[in-house]
Amino acid sequence: MFEFHNVTKIYKNKFTAVKDINLKIEKGSFSFVVGKSGAGKTTLIKLLIKEVNPTEGTIFFNGEDITYLSSRRIPLHRRKVGVVFQDFRLLNKKTVYENIAFAMEMVGQSPKSIRREVPNVLSMVGLSDKATNFPNELAGGEQQRIAIARAVVNRPDLIIADEPTGNLDPETSNEIMKIFSEINRRGTTLLMVTHDRTIVDMMKKRVIELKNGRIIRDTEEGDYYEGF
Ligand code: ADP
Repeated sequence: MFEFHNVTKIYKNKFTAVKDINLKIEKGSFSFVVGKSGAGKTTLIKLLIKEVNPTEGTIFFNGEDITYLSSRRIPLHRRKVGVVFQDFRLLNKKTVYENIAFAMEMVGQSPKSIRREVPNVLSMVGLSDKATNFPNELAGGEQQRIAIARAVVNRPDLIIADEPTGNLDPETSNEIMKIFSEINRRGTTLLMVTHDRTIVDMMKKRVIELKNGRIIRDTEEGDYYEGF
């Protein structure tokens, strides 16, 4: 799905945020990225969605070298990646339906496919009855489900979730994880950054741990902490 070959990112202030990263994520897999604040997790995401370019190394996505993409080619790349954030980032002046429809309009989908797909994804996240509500009328877990629906509606190859349960209580977090599991089961590759030990330990997926910009652990069916 994607590969990092000896990727290093040094920001303009000379700070090395990720150092010599080698990482291969298989198509259809589900992986967690863990590590303390400042470990380089966000930089890893930014490298993947082409918000920053690496200083050294090579990045492949679906076999294509995306290390340097012209600004003209970046939008096409970003269509292949759906991102879900901790703070949902919904458009508060648009209804739930419009939030999702807007994501489809932005990539030029036809009104017909919008009318077909928005109800589909709303049903997948169990919120068909909230289509005409505004985001601030919904609970946090519901808002996150809408954000997930928006991220999947254009059928990306990869979903990146950046601490998606960070603002949610444990029970709601479990519901959100069920939705991610289902999305993954249907074939979408998932990469999730999280501090949620309970979720990582429960899911038994691959765990990639970053520390000071380096991968210090990479285990299949891992736990949040090594050796627990
Ligand atoms: P994490 O997401 O794990 O908290 P980040 O990737 O955000 O880690 O940051 C890794 C390191 O890079 C941190 O020490 C941070 O201060 C530094 N950093 C992040 N973004 C920038 C930037 N734009 N300019 C300079 N340093 C940055």
